[in-house]
Amino acid sequence: MTRRNFVELAVAGSMVTAADTASNLPWYRTALRWGQTNITERDPVRYDIPWWREYWKRTAIQGVIINAGGIVAYYPSKFPLQQRAEFLNGRDLYGELAAAAHADGLAVVARMDSNRTAEDFFQAHGDWFARQKSGEPYRAADKYVTCVNSPYYDDYLPAVLKEIIDRSHPDGFADNSWSGLPRESICYCENCVRKFKDHAGELLPDHKDWNNQVYRKWIEWNYQRRLEVWDLNNRTTKSAGGQHCIWMGMNSGSITSESHSFRDLKEICARSEMLLLDHQSRTETTGFQQNGDAGKLVHGLLGWDKLAPESMALYQAPSRAGQISFRLAAKPPDEAQMWMLEGIAGGIQPWWHHVGAYHEDRRAYHTAEPVFRWHKEHDRYLVNRQPVATIGVVWSQRNTDYFGRDEAATLVDLPYRGMTEALIKARIPYVSVNADHIARDAGQFRALLLPNVGALSDAQCTSIRDFVKKGGSLLATGATSLYDEWGDSRKDFALADLFGAHAPAPDFGRHAAAQSVHSYLRLTPALRTRVGPVLRGFEETDILPFGGTLENMRLDPGTLVPLTFIPPFPIYPPETAWMRTPKTDVPALVLNGRVAYLPAEIDSRYGRDNLADHAQLLANLVHWAVGDAMPLEVRGPGFIDCHLYRQNARLILHLINLSNEAAWRAPIEEWISVGPLHVRVKLPQGVHAASARGLVSGAPMPLTVTDGWATFDVKSIRDHEVVLVG
Ligand SMILES: [Zn+2]
Repeated sequence: MTRRNFVELAVAGSMVTAADTASNLPWYRTALRWGQTNITERDPVRYDIPWWREYWKRTAIQGVIINAGGIVAYYPSKFPLQQRAEFLNGRDLYGELAAAAHADGLAVVARMDSNRTAEDFFQAHGDWFARQKSGEPYRAADKYVTCVNSPYYDDYLPAVLKEIIDRSHPDGFADNSWSGLPRESICYCENCVRKFKDHAGELLPDHKDWNNQVYRKWIEWNYQRRLEVWDLNNRTTKSAGGQHCIWMGMNSGSITSESHSFRDLKEICARSEMLLLDHQSRTETTGFQQNGDAGKLVHGLLGWDKLAPESMALYQAPSRAGQISFRLAAKPPDEAQMWMLEGIAGGIQPWWHHVGAYHEDRRAYHTAEPVFRWHKEHDRYLVNRQPVATIGVVWSQRNTDYFGRDEAATLVDLPYRGMTEALIKARIPYVSVNADHIARDAGQFRALLLPNVGALSDAQCTSIRDFVKKGGSLLATGATSLYDEWGDSRKDFALADLFGAHAPAPDFGRHAAAQSVHSYLRLTPALRTRVGPVLRGFEETDILPFGGTLENMRLDPGTLVPLTFIPPFPIYPPETAWMRTPKTDVPALVLNGRVAYLPAEIDSRYGRDNLADHAQLLANLVHWAVGDAMPLEVRGPGFIDCHLYRQNARLILHLINLSNEAAWRAPIEEWISVGPLHVRVKLPQGVHAASARGLVSGAPMPLTVTDGWATFDVKSIRDHEVVLVG
């Protein structure tokens, strides 16, 4: 048995559908649809509980998130300094809602928001609050920010959690902003001074300096403290509320955002039975497809048997920088639903989110229902399944921290996004793989993609080298492996032997993705027919637009260079737009055995400039790397995001139709159908395709099987289709 077969069989054997064992599983494995009415201080006098119970039923939710305490308490707490909601007037609104939800058979998650308080609290416990270097407290509007290293987190909040458990027995807890001050703000309170001294034997860092050992120790110490808070809260809720009473801080699907908040997503997922995502709507730069990607990223850490519900805004949330939220205005339903469908395709559980319990814009009440009812009808196919992908896109939070530093959006997010966008455009299934999990997960992959993953530890590089030794392919770009796990430059790429190329400068790739310049790449004529699909589609051109700059680098013998660099030349006026140096030997793409290395950061360029040639080149390279191991082929017009899964003896294919009139500017107000799509899918061992059926259209799809591939047509897709093959 090959390792691959072994993995496939192991996966098939371990899978049970939710319906099979629902009765034996705790709530965090079975509550697949969630709802949240995020209570405002005004709501205690106008919360129509019977109406909301009806809404819970209409949307078929199985769990609710109910505001309990923290910044504002919605119950009569015995802690006088926990500020009561202004209009609470002694009412136990939280307790009434928890009882109603329990009576309706829903899981109840009590919501905390624990990072700031009103002024009276600050006056009473000044030493529990975060301080600037001047000694002034950190403030957020009229509130005061509490310090994660103070007794507020060690003693006070655990006591509040116990009080809530004693009063209403929630099934678990959520916390909205649990991780304290973000990375940009150093706390100089007396607790931090003392604890950091005990930990590091040093004074707190004076200011941000990524090259300073004390600052680095401070970063790591901060991460550690958030995990301690996570563990303390879980010990507290489990000991007071039973083993299944788990505490879950909210997390983001963006690693850059997690880094800013000292939330180590890999460590958090390793200790989580369920992950709550706060990731409410698309941005115009990342699109709906980013939610499918977020699902793959978190399930790569959590495992695919656990749940990751995500708060999804039904109100007007911003989709571009500088735009504001309209908390009380309904988002166009097609826009809100498309975000939900992308999340579901990526393995995320839907969770509707209204701000406030009373709305004069009642249109939002009709948005969740169709998606949630469809989800209920088919939920056994939407959980407990394994992605089928032969490509792993490598990422790590340390790379975001120490390679990305203050430019993670450009150095880390941009190349990752460019690479995955190119895969999505080309309808190539992939999953995200953490750099620490390469050895664990490598068996399923034919190729690993390393989009400018500058910071890699020696151990991570060893696992990549082992992967290639066993026959795997690589596509690496830019600065990959030039820096160690602290972001310090190595003398050369740690993977130089695989690349067949050597770094031209110690800071190569760190400034690569700046403003685009008028440069090009030249195709090497002699290699056109020797490099398989790499230059496919470029038969009628000798050059491609680039946008970056490159320096010469030393190559090992035997490498092939299908693309070289053409240095920048003027754009304006047109009379000057001619190449000063039409040809150089500076390599832009290096092929070495089964390894493709792109000194030209085409992934970042595509993320930034959206040039079709860049997407084509990346897709070509992935086809070259994967060879005949591509498990899916979808033909026909449209921008379709494809997610392929295996569940026992069947395949499940999500096709999300992202071709819409608002692709260029949110929101979508009208879906536009596409089709037919011609689908070919490779049948893994143990899957015998007898039929195909659409879970959205309800239609059976005539299917033929040839040489281990199933072929069928999807006639038309409006928003999405999910095809069962088996
Ligand atoms: Zn502090």
